[in-house]
Amino acid sequence: MTDSALPLAMTLPSGIERMFPTLTPAQVNRIAAHGRARPIRAGEVLVEPGQQIVPFFIVKTGQVEIVRPSGATETLVVVYGARQFTGEVNMLSGRPAMLRVRARESGEVIEVDREHLLALVQTDNELSEVIMRAFILRRVELIAHGLGDVVLVGSNYCAGTLRVKEFLTRNSHPYSYIDLDRDADVQDLLDRFHISATDVPVVICRGETVLRNPTNQQIADCLGFNEAIDPSQIHDVVIVGAGPAGLAAAVYGASEGLDVLVLETNAPGGQAGSSSKIENYLGFPTGISGQALAGRAYTQAQKFGAHVMIAQCARRLDCERMPYALELDDHMRVLARTIIIATGAAYRKPAIDNLSRFENVGVYYGATFMEAQLCRGEEVVVVGGGNSAGQAAVFLAQTAQRVNILVRTDSLTETMSRYLVRRIEENPRITLRTKTEIVALEGTEHLERVRWRDDSGTIEARDIRHIFLMTGALPATRWLNGCVALDGKNFIKTGPDLSEDDLAAARWPLPRAPYLLETSLPGVFAVGDVRGGNIKRVASAVGEGSIAISFVHRVLHG
Ligand SMILES: Cc1cc2nc3c(=O)[nH]c(=O)nc-3n(C[C@H](O)[C@H](O)[C@H](O)COP(=O)(O)OP(=O)(O)OC[C@H]3O[C@@H](n4cnc5c(N)ncnc54)[C@H](O)[C@@H]3O)c2cc1C
Repeated sequence: MTDSALPLAMTLPSGIERMFPTLTPAQVNRIAAHGRARPIRAGEVLVEPGQQIVPFFIVKTGQVEIVRPSGATETLVVVYGARQFTGEVNMLSGRPAMLRVRARESGEVIEVDREHLLALVQTDNELSEVIMRAFILRRVELIAHGLGDVVLVGSNYCAGTLRVKEFLTRNSHPYSYIDLDRDADVQDLLDRFHISATDVPVVICRGETVLRNPTNQQIADCLGFNEAIDPSQIHDVVIVGAGPAGLAAAVYGASEGLDVLVLETNAPGGQAGSSSKIENYLGFPTGISGQALAGRAYTQAQKFGAHVMIAQCARRLDCERMPYALELDDHMRVLARTIIIATGAAYRKPAIDNLSRFENVGVYYGATFMEAQLCRGEEVVVVGGGNSAGQAAVFLAQTAQRVNILVRTDSLTETMSRYLVRRIEENPRITLRTKTEIVALEGTEHLERVRWRDDSGTIEARDIRHIFLMTGALPATRWLNGCVALDGKNFIKTGPDLSEDDLAAARWPLPRAPYLLETSLPGVFAVGDVRGGNIKRVASAVGEGSIAISFVHRVLHG
């Protein structure tokens, strides 16, 4: 057995005390009231990787070490001494352990089970801050060093590899990556597991299970993402979608004592999770990456006891009876007294290879005051022929030097309101370019140049640093199967937007009108981008998610 270096302990000297805090005797005593003292013998394994029920340990005397086993060798990750504690964010989600916990020196520990740990972090503010911060920092370090229980073997030229990387990254799961195109020794590994080139990408879970080109759901199953969740009970509220709206609803619902189950097709964070920097979300003056915001919100929801099922898509809503039933993949059903639909909307995106590289650094899906400031005095492009594109063009023309509107059709008359068409025609700063489309985006850190092709096939390159894609968004509502009233663009109608005709058609059964954010189905709410009339912003999604919970209480207890 060979011990390699101490990666976690070596890397972040200034953050060491926050990542591996030493508690005060008073803090240890408070935790001791929630657990039991037990002796440990040097060499005794306290937790094995893959173990489902993982206790939390505080060392009273002796030492506990965390190691990552890998075949016959192991890597020493960190050593805990007196008044230090084990664990990272998996403790909150109830997912299986990724690393081995072993007594290094004989002594005594306090052992606390997950339920008591959750109760502690929900009620003891001081300890909650110390423990939660340490858990999050430890997970960040595990990710940075690829210290987990997953090895991904793939190629950067393979879409499947990129999908799996994105799934693991956005679920904050640490993994090591073996690049088939670069690593000469990789053939040995492939031979050992009888893997052929067509099986790529390959995911190896805990050095045992080999998944060949797995679906996200297979990876989630293999890593036990959802194992601690019992889907069979009737939940107070099932939230569909874990973007900002769904996660906000989960945090407020769980913190207010509701039994909350969240279903998420892919990974927590939704569209916001893919944003490299959100600059306009309250409280983050220097901006925050979507991944960081989503990670914090996800941990917060779990701290309050919300259950989040990953890689589980709501396929169908059975709205004919109470409690409502949601059908998931594998014909699994979950039952709900109330439902919050937070499935978001996908922006229509032109097929340009490197589009995502420039999102938020030159490519925008909304034109607010913030974006207008970014392109003050510059030439910009607005893509789209609908009213939102027209409004964006007129608005941006107030500050931009020139606005080019690009449409594939030969005029705007079919798609845009007359008043907007007139304003565009009358504005000398706006140029309408019909039958024209963007064919390439260029730049390094930021968008620098746009190439577009016109009707004649001529490609023109322009030094333009900002483009606005106003080509509409498609709401994720098809799975609802006609259960709730939708508007003309298939967004969900709620509260005062529901007309008497809508309610009559839906056979609204109650003497009261639908609550704000309530759909045409009693006790079913819609929040965030999926809701008709929603302002497509992180803050409004979060606000709506939290507001919906107050109405859930009224439905449950009214
Ligand atoms: C590139 C980019 C940058 C942005 N930048 C900003 C910004 O700087 N500031 C800002 O305020 N806003 C920004 N936005 C807009 C913001 O991200 C959205 O308004 C916000 O994410 C909407 O949140 P939501 O929870 O309603 O929906 P989403 O974030 O879309 O989340 C919906 C979730 O539901 C899941 N889902 C869908 N269908 C199902 C199903 N059937 N079953 C289970 N799960 C399902 C999806 O996988 C997804 O995770 C940006 C958007 C993009 C695309």
